[in-house]
Amino acid sequence: MKNEIKIFSPATVANVSCGFDVLGFALDTVGDEMIIRKVPQKGIQITKINDQNLPLETNKNVAGVAALALLAETNIEFGFEIEINKKIKPGSGIGSSAASSAGAVWAINELLGSPFNTTDLVRFAMEGEKLASGEAHADNVAPAIFGGFTLIRSYNPLDIIKIPTPKDLIVTIIHPQIEIKTSEARKLLSQTVSLKNATKQWANVGGLISGLHTNDYDLIGRSLQDFVAEPVRSKLIPGFNKLKQTCLETGALGCGISGSGPSIFVLSKGEKKALEVSEAMKTVYNKVGIAYDLHVSKVNNKGIKILDTK
Ligand code: ADP
Repeated sequence: MKNEIKIFSPATVANVSCGFDVLGFALDTVGDEMIIRKVPQKGIQITKINDQNLPLETNKNVAGVAALALLAETNIEFGFEIEINKKIKPGSGIGSSAASSAGAVWAINELLGSPFNTTDLVRFAMEGEKLASGEAHADNVAPAIFGGFTLIRSYNPLDIIKIPTPKDLIVTIIHPQIEIKTSEARKLLSQTVSLKNATKQWANVGGLISGLHTNDYDLIGRSLQDFVAEPVRSKLIPGFNKLKQTCLETGALGCGISGSGPSIFVLSKGEKKALEVSEAMKTVYNKVGIAYDLHVSKVNNKGIKILDTK
């Protein structure tokens, strides 16, 4: 049995425009690093985390809570230590808490010889999400664990579907340095959707899923429309409309809010176009006058990756 594992746990984009609360995908070059070590002491200890605002207490850290949910379904006589090197800023809207929750349970499962399947791991990681946001949602932890695009078809029973990822799909993420509380972004949403908008929304979900299956980039682009969350949430992100318009004019496939924001994701076909779009985004956002981070990444089809084992 291996004693220690070092992993990369990816940032993720949830919602993906038309897929509010059900679709997500994983990034390839943005993510946290974690070391998980088997120790004689039972239970979970978070021994290191490089973000002073995040708690070391097992019950307050999403990695600890998710890992305890897994351990509760085993009868092992030892425990684990977790070190977290956070590279995804909490509250950025690209699944910071999900990366820690998903990484912890995935790595422990590896060290135990994989007794649990990927859907079980999502179920455990969802306990971490419940701690972070009050709701046990799976739209970030599922793509982190499965890789690529995922669809949460149902929560009860939990039914997660992995969707194929066209190989030339490149994502640009811009993270304006403002805070949007998920709870605030949720409060803006109406509890009802008109039949007209619901019809447009599920037509686009179908189009997006079909486009991903058939490598039809134009169909993917046409389907990246959101009639539910974006019209109200985009008002919280300065410069959103101008940025979106510029990305589409520069030839991006589509653009939307990542999770509940403030990060914005843009999908392009091929690296050359993605870099051109990224430059246009910088030009627009420099004028908005808010500091930002920008990342360009492939869609990560594997999810969590092993960096080292001992
Ligand atoms: P994002 O908006 O990027 O998805 P979240 O809002 O999901 O980020 O998660 C941030 C919340 O989770 C914060 O309240 C943070 O204090 C809490 N949290 C607890 N443990 C962790 C952890 N290991 N990593 C990130 N956030 C954590």
